[in-house]
Order: sequence, then structure tokens, then C-alpha cells
Amino acid sequence: MTLVVETRALKFTYQKDVVFSYSDITLNQGDVLFVLGRSGSGKSTLLNLLAGFLTPLSGEIVINGTLLQQLSPSKRDVFRGRNIGIVFQKNVFLRSVSIWENLKWAAYAADVSFDAAHAEFLLEKLGISEKKHKKPHQLSQGEQQRGSIARALVNRPKLVLADEPTSALDDENALEVIDLLKSTALQQNASLVVVTHDRRIVNSDDAVYHVSQ
Ligand code: ADP
Ligand code: MG
Repeated sequence: MTLVVETRALKFTYQKDVVFSYSDITLNQGDVLFVLGRSGSGKSTLLNLLAGFLTPLSGEIVINGTLLQQLSPSKRDVFRGRNIGIVFQKNVFLRSVSIWENLKWAAYAADVSFDAAHAEFLLEKLGISEKKHKKPHQLSQGEQQRGSIARALVNRPKLVLADEPTSALDDENALEVIDLLKSTALQQNASLVVVTHDRRIVNSDDAVYHVSQ
């Protein structure tokens, strides 16, 4: 088992008044964790800490053996691009170019070579291969979320973070998208953290982490 995520005594504050304290997280390769909690409890904050977009007040975050806080901001950006794939609630594609170009851009931005065969494999598996030359806005919400998964996974990250990936989707799409997110992440032996308040997508046998503030 390879340890992918380890947090220790993690605390964070935006303005010193409210301090978020997170119980420790340990994730091995292939683990899936659902982060639950009411709105405003600090779920997105936790995800942004794991992604290295925010810096802890105290405590440690180790991703793939690297202590995030010891990286300079620019090194953290490179580290994120290579090791972490992120799926947001709404897509964050470049709007003026195709889905395919967006996948290429994800590799370029992370300074890794673009694996076209892997990109094609992901688009096939996600069922949007025939839409790859369309621009993001020409796809439905569900298709855009599938495209977001492809973009998050194209660099074969060790860790995939998803923030409310299904909340803009109808029931059928929500279940399909979460299944695809899980299966594509697991196929790459990545760990997956899904922040959600969407009870539709959490099964009784899923590992759950509660954020409470
Ligand atoms: P959740 O994702 O669980 O709904 P968030 O992690 O987004 O919650 O936010 C937790 C709390 O922190 C909320 O009360 C929110 O208003 C506050 N917050 C989020 N971002 C900022 C920020 N940039 N500056 C100050 N407060 C923030
Ligand atoms: Mg949130």
C-alpha cells in the first residue's frame, strides 16, 4: 500500500476569528473518501488545503511523501499539476478551444508530455469521444463534467480531488458521473476525495469523513 495523503493536526483560518480543525486523514492508493458536512462547515476549504491552494495555520499535509508547506508557491503549482487532478462543481475549461485542446493544455500547464492515447482512452470510457472537437459550451452539463474528469485524470495524478462534482446534475447524470469518476480514478490507482452534500451519490459502503464546525 502506498500512502498518498496524510494530514496531521490540520488547522486553518481565513480571518483568525473562526478556526477550522480537521481530524487526521490517511489515504492509500486506490482509496475513495467522501467528505460530508453542512454548507459552510469547511469542506471546500479542506479540499483547497489538500490541493495546496491554501496554507494551513498549523499542522501538516503530506501528499505522495511531499510536505506541501515546504514547497514554494511556484513549486507547489508544478507539484499540483503533476500529482493532483481537480474536478470542480462547474467546469473550468478554456472556453475558446475544444475539449481535446483543453486536455492538451492540462498537460502543457503541468509541463508533462501529452499522452494522446490515454486522453482518447479516457474520453472513450467517459462516453464523450465523439464530442472531443467541440468547445465546452457546446456540451451538456453532464458531458462537461465528464470532460472535467478527463482533464483531471489526463496527467495520471496520484490524487484526484472533486468538489461537489454532481450538484449541478440531474439524478441520472449524477450517479453516472460519480461512477465514472470512481472507476477512472481507480483504474489509474489514484486516491479520490469527493466533497459533497449530495446524498444521492454516497453508498452505505463508502468511506466517509465528516467535517463539522
Ligand atoms: P463548504 O464547502 O463546507 O460549504 P467552505 O469551506 O467553502 O464551506 O467555507 C467555510 C467557511 O469559510 C464559510 O463560512 C465561508 O463563508 C468561509 N470562507 C470561505 N472562503 C473564504 C474566504 N476566501 N475568506 C473568508 N471566509 C471564507
Ligand atoms: Mg463547498
